[in-house]
Amino acid sequence: MAKDKKLVESITDMEQDFPQWYTDVVLKADLANYSSIKGCMIIRPYGYAIWELIQKTLDAKFKETGHENVYMPMLIPESLLQKEKDHVEGFAPEVAWVTHGGETELTERLCVRPTSETLFCDHYKDIIHSYRDLPKLYNQWCSVMRWEKTTRPFLRTMEFLWQEGHTAHATQEESEAETVKMLNVYADFCEKYLAIPVVKGQKTEKERFAGAKATYTIESLMHDGKALQSGTSHNFGDGFAKAFGIQYTDKDNKLQYVHQTSWGMTTRIIGAVIMVHGDNSGLVLPPAIAPVQVIIVPIAMQKGGVVEKANELKDRLSNFRVKVDDSDKSPGWKFSEYEMKGVPIRLEVGPKDIEKNQVVLARRDSGEKIIVSMDNLEEEVAKLLEDIQHSMLENARARRDSKTYVAKNMDEFEKIINETPGFIKAMWCGDQACEDKIKEMTGATSRCIPFEQEEISDTCVCCGKKAKHMVYWGRAY
Ligand SMILES: [Zn+2]
Repeated sequence: MAKDKKLVESITDMEQDFPQWYTDVVLKADLANYSSIKGCMIIRPYGYAIWELIQKTLDAKFKETGHENVYMPMLIPESLLQKEKDHVEGFAPEVAWVTHGGETELTERLCVRPTSETLFCDHYKDIIHSYRDLPKLYNQWCSVMRWEKTTRPFLRTMEFLWQEGHTAHATQEESEAETVKMLNVYADFCEKYLAIPVVKGQKTEKERFAGAKATYTIESLMHDGKALQSGTSHNFGDGFAKAFGIQYTDKDNKLQYVHQTSWGMTTRIIGAVIMVHGDNSGLVLPPAIAPVQVIIVPIAMQKGGVVEKANELKDRLSNFRVKVDDSDKSPGWKFSEYEMKGVPIRLEVGPKDIEKNQVVLARRDSGEKIIVSMDNLEEEVAKLLEDIQHSMLENARARRDSKTYVAKNMDEFEKIINETPGFIKAMWCGDQACEDKIKEMTGATSRCIPFEQEEISDTCVCCGKKAKHMVYWGRAY
């Protein structure tokens, strides 16, 4: 029992110290570890299994929407990066450079890709000639590197895994439709699979991606009231096409520039899963991306037939991701371990259960225990997983809504951000000076101009002039 206690006690209360709670969960749930390269993490098998499930689901959605996977080089010549002015200015401060090949100094520096717009443009210039070559709907799964000063596992690391979609279209209408379509793919994915409710909207000019005409985003809210940008989709218009000379001949035999998009989701989203659903016993995983959906813990294993029964049940549940833990650790120790790892259902089976032809199912999300007959175990487990997935989304939505506030002036704004952090809905005049001032006064940034607008008041929360948009604000990761 002493050991059981130690395992649970070793994570910090989230109410006491949220950042420390987060780090504890990442380490104790075996998701990731620090590496000898400062700012880079090691994604451990359990963390990587979550990423694989995310990747598999998203990849299928990209293919359903007509995209193809490709692979680009990881190094970008400096001259190529320089071609689009805004883009290079945005990324230059955080780029890592390769200057030598062996002992020989290179004639041109190569950067380790921070993102691959320039490489895709360089390639599109070579393969797009006619309207018949359009659209080009490419996606790449890879890692990128950004030289960050402060890092935290999953949330911000120098190297991270992601997918980057890069598409080229004949018209601005088509690239705009693609940008919105992919944002919706991300939003649906977050809600249906990760059980994370999101706010969809557009970034202000200040927060836009370097070189984009429009950036759309999905924003989610963590347990501690801080926001997290969870996926973005950019419409470049013909800006990159003009910088790189990507032209095609249209049906009237006229030369036109293509219109491009890019969109990405990263391993950062695992940080969101941890911070939206986790509790003081550790991780809580939505069934759709849980590497183990049901953990079977045999009780009184030394009794004849218990382990055999546990394995028999596992075989019956082969439609799900199921594991039996028949190690010699105590049941109490196993309970805490799988709670820490966020396994959605714990199935307990012991001699008494076998006698009564029943098992105990314990939900990780609510802690509720139910006793079900072994006869219809498959249906019971399916039903329960579905119910957990659904209620995790509803609970997360309720938590987010309870932390979403309205501010009509800066006094209200400051009071909310300091006393009850969360999303703040407030009107904005559209002037960047107000956006800068709000950030300076409160540390909050504009998260997005939501597609679903509300008329809170007529005037800007900051300057009192006529308001243009309702904006979601918040301190963010
Ligand atoms: Zn203003």
